[in-house]
Amino acid sequence: MTRLVPSGPVPPGSGWPEDPATPATPVADGPESVRELSATAGTLAELTARQSVCRACPRLVEWRERVAREKRRSFLDEQYWGRPISGWGSDTPRILIVGLAPAAHGGNRTGRVFTGDRSGDVLYASLWRTGLAAQPTSVRAGDGQRLIGARMVAAVRCAPPQNKPTVAERDACAPWLTAELGLVAGDLRSVVCLGHFAWQAMWPQLAAAGFAVPRPRPVFGHGAEAAVRRAGQEDDLLVIGCYHPSQQNTFTGRVTDAMLDQVFLRARDYAAPHDVA
Ligand code: SF4
Repeated sequence: MTRLVPSGPVPPGSGWPEDPATPATPVADGPESVRELSATAGTLAELTARQSVCRACPRLVEWRERVAREKRRSFLDEQYWGRPISGWGSDTPRILIVGLAPAAHGGNRTGRVFTGDRSGDVLYASLWRTGLAAQPTSVRAGDGQRLIGARMVAAVRCAPPQNKPTVAERDACAPWLTAELGLVAGDLRSVVCLGHFAWQAMWPQLAAAGFAVPRPRPVFGHGAEAAVRRAGQEDDLLVIGCYHPSQQNTFTGRVTDAMLDQVFLRARDYAAPHDVA
């Protein structure tokens, strides 16, 4: 018997596991309303709900929903999430992991950041080996995976064509990260930036959150580090660069399992002696 699989994006609050939104969640329809709705969310739960229904970037909304309708052949029997990917993980993280944007058939399909594609497979395996994830795999929302003392976000929350958001889309999405960083910054001890785009995106975010950002900005590289401090805090926040675990980087050996583990162990150990569990 043929099973009818719903097509297109998942309606908010319709039963998708880990869906943070409800039909009543307010929807941003442009950069101005992203600024307003991110600044007034108040809690992480409401912020992630609002992120997950955003429609501020017409090109990205059209793309993510078209991908969710048309699907890849190997996933024809699955419903795609087709919405923005909210920050995910601990509500009081010691470690923040920042990526570029969700993949069309990864996060855009599964509804969870870095989940459902090869990059995510490599990344979660490393997080598990280094004690930051409860399971070695992250397959779909509701699979029991959880991050331990860590939170993961994308600098741009919607899957872009060719994995390339425009500058205007990056800027439109930035207030979601600004607000999220503001809500978790008090607990943070380290930030891991996956790739040059995330590294570049984080400096203005850290400055907006009140951290003293070095000038000139530190140069990105695998294992590059910079310590920043927020007025009134006693400890530095350690920002660490990490090559992105993209297929291109992992296939060519530019980044290996050992190199990823090295970065996450550094981030984890820097968070000690605080309890990251
Ligand atoms: S990229 Fe960000 S601002 Fe643009 S539609 Fe997606 S969530 Fe909204």
